[in-house]
Amino acid sequence: MSLKLYDTMTREKRPFVPRDPSRVTLYVCGPTVYNYAHIGNFRPVVVFDLLFRVLRRHYGEAHVLYAANVTDVDDKINRKAAEEGVPIKAITDRYLEAYNADAAALGALRPTFQPRVTETMDAIVGMIGDLVGNGAAYAAEGHVLFDTQAFADYGKLSKKPLDDLIAGARVDVAPYKKDPRDFVLWKPSKPGEPEWPSPWGPGRPGWHIECTAMIHQALGLPIDIHGGGVDLVFPHHENELAQGVCSGHGEREYARYWLHNGFLNMAEEKMSKSVGNVALAHDLLKTWPGEALRWALLAGHYRQELEWTDDLVAQAKANLDRLYRVLDDSARFLSGQPAPDGPQSELGAHDHAEVLQALDDDLNTPAAFAALFQLADKVRAAVMAKDALATASLRGLLLDAANLMGFLAADPQAWFQAGADDDLKARVEALIAARAEARAAKNWPEADRIRAELAALNVEVMDGPSGATWRIKEQA
Ligand SMILES: [Zn+2]
Repeated sequence: MSLKLYDTMTREKRPFVPRDPSRVTLYVCGPTVYNYAHIGNFRPVVVFDLLFRVLRRHYGEAHVLYAANVTDVDDKINRKAAEEGVPIKAITDRYLEAYNADAAALGALRPTFQPRVTETMDAIVGMIGDLVGNGAAYAAEGHVLFDTQAFADYGKLSKKPLDDLIAGARVDVAPYKKDPRDFVLWKPSKPGEPEWPSPWGPGRPGWHIECTAMIHQALGLPIDIHGGGVDLVFPHHENELAQGVCSGHGEREYARYWLHNGFLNMAEEKMSKSVGNVALAHDLLKTWPGEALRWALLAGHYRQELEWTDDLVAQAKANLDRLYRVLDDSARFLSGQPAPDGPQSELGAHDHAEVLQALDDDLNTPAAFAALFQLADKVRAAVMAKDALATASLRGLLLDAANLMGFLAADPQAWFQAGADDDLKARVEALIAARAEARAAKNWPEADRIRAELAALNVEVMDGPSGATWRIKEQA
């Protein structure tokens, strides 16, 4: 079983071979922290978290290093800080904390490194110095620019014709540029805005150089996998590549594999913070469990565009309900059985392997979900057959495969009771206690009456050897 990934550079799916299997490196472009992030911003977070988990499964947790940067120097941050009359750090700390909380709620593991621009300034200035020293960058009017003519392969990643490259750069046309494609590495700050010292005058870095400097500092060049949204291929990743190769670090190699996730579309528009669509993960998490949002984000293949709708999330929630129900029912069946004792069953191992194989095939999540359901059906069949050994074994395989994907992390009881507010929970608990008393007193009519009252609340009560448990009933 081997991992294959679609590489944007070669435009093909090819076997993943790390440079050093004892030190596999992954870098993903992270957020600019000035506001709550849109659900679209979390698509790469969840997709590359899944890749991180798959890599850890293959190479071992200690052998995979994952860095995702935090852009904490930016015009939008400056504007927000000015509006509130606070230092930029007050803004960036607040929204980085919110971003990390949202990412955790979506089941994303914290990257190994989360470097911030303000804490990487020396490495950034150092790398600009390397580029100037190598003749790949020049200073002009307080700016330092990357000289795209110094890199013969410029345009290799995005494979855009020269005219497109110039058109893409046109927003930044300036008289001090030798070539319209040249891009900023360092620029003066506007009056009153934060600035840092450099050999070319005080100022701040351009956006592209921060990623290259952080990769070099956090992971070392070259890296195995560079990831991000497909909108970053040009100019951001094209420019990162040019900088990385010309910096003289990494033996003129930058990233061995380039992975890009497709857009998340909402109301047929590209999701972007600057457009102002309102679907903040922070808000969605008030209505939906994080796992349901994670499932929805992985519902389509990561390279395809994903249409974000309420139906998509509702279906994701229903799919998880189905799996949690199997988990809950099988746990209750097993709790009434003597601990199964016997050879580890091979039942279901095939379906388990199918989940992993689907993920190895360029993170084919739709196929992985289908295989998870096959495995869940087998667990249910083993419970129906009252086969404790097969149930325990299949249930273990289902949990392992789902956990690998970042699912079924909750206790099934908690999952099903999460939809109930505190009032309902208290009422149900009181009714269950009253019913237990009625049963102890052999007052069967009263016990039946209470059960009917619970049913009217859409609550299902399950009697087990260790007392009664309950869950919100499946929607018809
Ligand atoms: Zn980047």
